[in-house]
Amino acid sequence: MEENVRAGRCVVAVDGPSGSGKSTVSRRLAAGLGARYLDTGAMYRAITWAVLRSGVDLTDAAAVGKVAEEVELRIGTDPQGYAVTVDGVNVDREIRGPEVTGAVSAVAAVPAVRALLVARQRELINHAGRIVVEGRDIGAVVAPDADLKVYLTASEAARARRRSAEDAVDVAATAADLARRDRLDSTRTVDPLRQSADAVELDTTELGIDEVVDRLRGLLTERGVA
Ligand code: C5P
Repeated sequence: MEENVRAGRCVVAVDGPSGSGKSTVSRRLAAGLGARYLDTGAMYRAITWAVLRSGVDLTDAAAVGKVAEEVELRIGTDPQGYAVTVDGVNVDREIRGPEVTGAVSAVAAVPAVRALLVARQRELINHAGRIVVEGRDIGAVVAPDADLKVYLTASEAARARRRSAEDAVDVAATAADLARRDRLDSTRTVDPLRQSADAVELDTTELGIDEVVDRLRGLLTERGVA
């Protein structure tokens, strides 16, 4: 840890299912630390947008992997606001829509897509030095040597409530979609959503965003990394 402080490097891995508070907490934590922020879910969503646009069959892993390799994906790491572009087209809005949300878990299960994005994520992390990274496999796969690994959870009801407020979609439909994605994300063969043995688990059901961020700041201070 001492070495990390000296080198100014600090990587925080925030994993957990949808609606656990990952995005808001990670962005706020990064802004408070003066660090960069990487939304790896947005990268899987952007590739999914490209796959849908290409018209290839979602179940054709080779064709999906080829689209992923051929497109130029760019993502910013500013916690105050970052753009996601595919072949120069800004897809910030499209990647949050129901079509992409409905297809993303299938695309994220393709091994070639994961290999490509994990490599890109590692490059972005190395380049940033100080960064909060959120996703499903960050502590276990992307950054196993992270200074702090957090696994955020929340009750299914709380997660569905939060996501439905964000997306302005009915709570029951959101709950069904979350359950479907959790199942796909946790049961896929390559890098399924899972908690690393060395991650700190935090149930955010009864906690406000600031409380969660404060606890994470406390953990970083205890470890002498921020
Ligand atoms: O976090 P978000 O809900 O935007 O992620 C969208 C999807 O991307 C997830 O449901 C999952 O299928 C995939 N994902 C992943 N690995 C990550 C981040 C997201 O497989 N590190």
